[in-house]
Amino acid sequence: MAESRTPDQVVARAARATDLADLDAAVSDCFACPRLVRWREEVARTRRAAFRDQEYWGRPVPGFGPADARIAILGLAPAAHGGNRTGRIFTGDRSGDVLFAALHRAGLANQPTSVAADDGLTLRDTRIFSAVRCAPPDNKPTPDERDTCAPWLHREVTLIRPTLRVVVALGAFAWAAWWPVLRQVYGQRPPSPRPVFGHGAHWSGAAVPELLGCYHVSQQNTFTGRLTPGMLDDVFGRAKQLAEVD
Ligand code: SF4
Repeated sequence: MAESRTPDQVVARAARATDLADLDAAVSDCFACPRLVRWREEVARTRRAAFRDQEYWGRPVPGFGPADARIAILGLAPAAHGGNRTGRIFTGDRSGDVLFAALHRAGLANQPTSVAADDGLTLRDTRIFSAVRCAPPDNKPTPDERDTCAPWLHREVTLIRPTLRVVVALGAFAWAAWWPVLRQVYGQRPPSPRPVFGHGAHWSGAAVPELLGCYHVSQQNTFTGRLTPGMLDDVFGRAKQLAEVD
């Protein structure tokens, strides 16, 4: 399989992806952002002391969840020692602990923890992916990196479009990353001015998924109590209701 090494190659390869397995494989073989490739590989080489004996994934992190998902959870980017270590989104870090515990309470995950790619976790009616597929330094991708990575997101949404009803945007970056999807996937002009992100924000358009805003499950938010388990339960309860998931 050909690697993607330029923005044009990302566009072409994403457009060719026939199903999620093909897309996931293609994403994993992407090298189009030099700064992020350097960073993900450096983190994988130097490692955190607690994980010194582990082999890091050190590659882009594909989405996770079934192809017939009715709910999508859109994050920012993988964590350096979470998804970039384990190879699965929100897996192996505190953010994932909070997110998957909430998904389990909502009946959307078969277990409350997500520690490794082979831990038996499965999702129901839900697919999780991020706007940028490589771990960025300080969790801050550049606008160019965001735009270079966008075709992967757009193709992923296209592939699950037949069933997708609700998107939960974790944080303002993900919320902003959704608007280009409306144009690229649904052929619709994004609203202007753009609706403002907030926890509990809800935007509806005609014949497109409902968009819900949720504070990101970052340690900064969950440790300080800005985002509580109850707040997550409310968001996922609302998402299930809108998506007509039992
Ligand atoms: S951030 Fe996206 S486009 Fe950039 S190298 Fe990673 S997967 Fe490729």
